[in-house]
Amino acid sequence: MTERATQDGLHDAIVIGAGVVGCAIARRLALEGARVLVLEKAADILDGASKGNSAILHTGFDAPPGSLEQACIAAGHAEYLDIRERLGLPLIRCGALVIAWNEEEAARLPALMAQARANGVEPEPLTRAELLAREPGLAPGLVAAFRIPGESLIDPWSAPLAYLMQAVANGAQLMRSCEVLSGVFDGEAWRIGTTRGPVAGRLVVNAAGLHGDILEARLLGQAGFRIRPRKGQFVVYDKTAARLVSHILLPVPTEVTKGVVVCRTVFGNLLVGPTAEDQEDRESAALVPETLAALRRRGEAILPALAAEPVTAIYAGLRPASGQKDYHIRLHEGRNYVAVGGIRSTGLSAALGIARHVADLVAGRIGAGWTPPADPLWPQVPNLTEGLPRDWQRPGHGGILCHCELVTRREVEAALEGPLGARSLGGLKRRTRVTMGRCQGFYCSAALAALTRGASISRWESRSMPDLPAHAAVVVVGAGPAGLAAAALLAGQGVDVLVLEREAEAGGIPRHCAHSPYGLREWGRLLTGPAHARRLTRAAQEAGARILTGVTVTALLPGPRLAVTADGGPGEIAADQVLLATGARETSRAARLIGGTKPGGVLNTGALQGLVHLDGLRPFRRPVVVGTELVAFSALLTCRGAGIRPVAMIEEGPRPVARPPRRAVAAAHGRAAASVHRPSGHRGARACRGRPAARALGRAAGQDGRGDPDGPLPPRGRADPRQPSALGSPRGRARGGRIRALLGPGLLRCWQPPAYGRDGGALLVRGARRRPCDPGRPRRAAARGAGPAGEP
Ligand SMILES: Cc1cc2nc3c(=O)[nH]c(=O)nc-3n(C[C@H](O)[C@H](O)[C@H](O)COP(=O)(O)OP(=O)(O)OC[C@H]3O[C@@H](n4cnc5c(N)ncnc54)[C@H](O)[C@@H]3O)c2cc1C
Repeated sequence: MTERATQDGLHDAIVIGAGVVGCAIARRLALEGARVLVLEKAADILDGASKGNSAILHTGFDAPPGSLEQACIAAGHAEYLDIRERLGLPLIRCGALVIAWNEEEAARLPALMAQARANGVEPEPLTRAELLAREPGLAPGLVAAFRIPGESLIDPWSAPLAYLMQAVANGAQLMRSCEVLSGVFDGEAWRIGTTRGPVAGRLVVNAAGLHGDILEARLLGQAGFRIRPRKGQFVVYDKTAARLVSHILLPVPTEVTKGVVVCRTVFGNLLVGPTAEDQEDRESAALVPETLAALRRRGEAILPALAAEPVTAIYAGLRPASGQKDYHIRLHEGRNYVAVGGIRSTGLSAALGIARHVADLVAGRIGAGWTPPADPLWPQVPNLTEGLPRDWQRPGHGGILCHCELVTRREVEAALEGPLGARSLGGLKRRTRVTMGRCQGFYCSAALAALTRGASISRWESRSMPDLPAHAAVVVVGAGPAGLAAAALLAGQGVDVLVLEREAEAGGIPRHCAHSPYGLREWGRLLTGPAHARRLTRAAQEAGARILTGVTVTALLPGPRLAVTADGGPGEIAADQVLLATGARETSRAARLIGGTKPGGVLNTGALQGLVHLDGLRPFRRPVVVGTELVAFSALLTCRGAGIRPVAMIEEGPRPVARPPRRAVAAAHGRAAASVHRPSGHRGARACRGRPAARALGRAAGQDGRGDPDGPLPPRGRADPRQPSALGSPRGRARGGRIRALLGPGLLRCWQPPAYGRDGGALLVRGARRRPCDPGRPRRAAARGAGPAGEP
C-alpha cells in the first residue's frame, strides 16, 4: 500500500513544522515505515520556538505527576540517552541543583522532592555545606538545595537536525519555504494547499509550534487550543566563565516558569536566563537591554564572580505556551489528524517521547500497513561541542573561517551541501556555530558572504599547512602592528623570530582602516592603514623574522609549546619565549546588550570597515549610525566611499560628541559628515534624537527595504557571484568612489553614488557609552514560490 501510495503522490504522513518536535515525529514515523513528508514554512528548519532555548535535557522531576508532559519527558530523556552515540549527539551529565535562596523557598523543597520521586526521579538532599563544597562559587546567601543527578546539557540544534537527518536517510522528504495554507480531508486522504503547490497524505500531524492553533483553524475550521507565546531572554557569557560552575543551577520553580537558570553550554559558554514574558506577537523575540541587564544582575547574585566575565551573546526564544497545564496532543480519528500543541518549555527534552506517543496514537489504525525498515540507517551529525573532537583537529579543513568558535571552511561548506544543507544564515549558524563566538561575526562575515554567494573566497583560499618549524627562539602570536614591530626589533638584533598569524595576511587591524593618518611616528609620513600594515610587514621580514599566515594558535602548553592548526591539521611549535600580541577589538554589540539580527543586522565600525575595505562588500545601503564620536564620522566616511547612504546619525545627548574641530576634519572628508550640522539636510546623514531617531531606526531595520540579514541564502550552485548575498552585495566600482571621496569635497561633488537600492538598512553602532537600543526584528522576506535547490 505504501509503495502504491507514494507512486500516486500520496504520502503516508505529512508532518507540518520542522521544529524539534516535528523533526522527532518525522524520524519516529519514518522508522515505523511511513513515507513521511515534512513541510516547513521557513527557509530552514528550527526557525520557530526551537531556535532559542536553554538546551537542558530535563528529567521531568518537576512536571505535574501523571501528566502527558511528564510521560513524554521521561520517554524522551531515556530515548535520547539510548540513541545519542549512534547519531553522534553530545551530552554533559552535570546534574542540576535546585537552590532555595530564602526560607519561603526552602519550605517548598520537600514537596518538590516528593514530586520528583512521584515522577521516578530520585533527588539528593544537600546541606548548605555540601552544596558549597560542590559549587564553591555560589553566593553565600543560599539556604538549602537538592540535586537531580540526571539533568543534562545537550546541543539544541544538532539533536533535531540528527532526528531529521535520520528521517530523510530512511525515506522522508522535506520541503522548506513551504507554508501550509489550507487542507481538506476527503475521508481517505488530506489534500493540503501550500505556498509551493498541493500535496497529499493519509495522515496529517500538526507540529507547527507557535502557529499550531492558526494551522488547526486552517485545517479543521476552528482551533481546539490557543497559543500564548511566552518570551525568554538570555545572556551568554564568554568561555572563561564556564569554569565558575559545574551544575545546572535552578531556582525553585513557580507555576509559570522554571525560573532563571545559570548553566554551562555544551559549546563551553555559560548562560543566564530565561525570562518568562507573555506576549501576543508570535514572531518577534525582541531583546530588551534593561531586562538583559537585570538578568546579568540576577546571574551575579547567584555567582558573584560573573561580574568580571564578559558577555559574548544575547538571544531570546518564544515558548509555544497554550494556557493549559499540559501538552495538547489529540488524535482526531475520523479525520486522520493529530494536533501536537502547547509544547512550551520542555519540548527539546520531550520531543522523542512525544514522537513515540504520536506513533502509538496512530499505530494499528492509520499506521496499520506500515512496515518498519529492517535495517534503518543511522547518520551521524558533525560535532560542534567542546568535549569531543572537532573538525579543526583534522587535516584538510581548508582553514579557520570563524576564529572564535574555530569553525573550519570545510564545516561551513559541508553544512551548505546535501539534502538538509543550510538554506538561511540562521540555519548555517545553527549547523556550524559560525558568527556565534565572542566577536559575533567580525571576522567571518565577509567569508560567509562570499561562500553563500557561491563566489570564491580568495582572501580565505585554502592554504596547505606551511612548513612549520619545530622551534623558534621567540614565537610572536599575532601579526598586527605590535607583533610586527616587536618581531622587526628582535630579528634586527639577531634573534630567531617566528610570527604566527591566523589571518591570510599580516598587518592586523590597520589593513581595514583605509583612512589616514597612520605612519607619521614610524615612517615620518602620512599613510593609510593598509599602507602602514604593508610597511610594517616588510620591515619585519627584511629584519629576518619569519611570518606564517593562516596558522591559528589553539593553546599555550607547558614548555613553552604552542598548539596550532592550519589546513594541514594540528601541530606543535616549541619556543624559548612566547610573545602574545593578539591585540584588542571593539566590544561586540552583544556585549553591550544591543539586540538585532547578526552578523548583517548591526555592525560595529571595525566590522563595517573590514567588509568594505578588505572584502569589497556593501553590507547595507541605508544604515543608521548610532553615536556621534569621531569614529562614527570615520564610519560615515567608509559608508560614503562604498556608496552607502546612512539614514541618520543618532545621538542621545543634545549635540554631536566629537568636538567641533575634529568634526570639521571629518567633515572635510565628505558631505555626509558635514551634514550632521544640518539637522534638516536630506542628502547625507542627519543627527537626530527622540521620535525622528525611532523613525530612522525603523527605516534601517527594514521597513523601507528587503531587510532580513538572517534570511534565506541563495541556492548553492545556482548563485550568481555578482548578486547580493544575505550579508551584502559586492561593491564593484565603489572602491573608486572611496578614493575620490578621500580626495575631498570638491571632487566628491562630481561623484554621486548611483541610485540606492532598496535593500534593508542596518544599524551601525559605535560608542561604548551609547544607550543600547533594540531595532526589533526586521521584516522577514516573503519566502514563497520556487523552493531551494535539491528539494521536491
Ligand atoms: C526560552 C526557552 C527556553 C527553553 N528551554 C528548554 C530547555 O532547556 N529544555 C527543553 O526541553 N525545552 C526548552 N524549551 C522548549 C522548547 O524549545 C520548545 O518546547 C520546542 O522548541 C517546541 O518545538 P516545536 O517543534 O513544537 O515548535 P517550533 O520550534 O516552533 O516548530 C514549529 C515549526 O512549524 C513551522 N510552521 C508553523 N506554521 C506552519 C505552516 N502553516 N506551514 C508549515 N510550517 C509551519 C514553524 O516555522 C516552525 O519551524 C525552551 C523554550 C524557550 C523559548
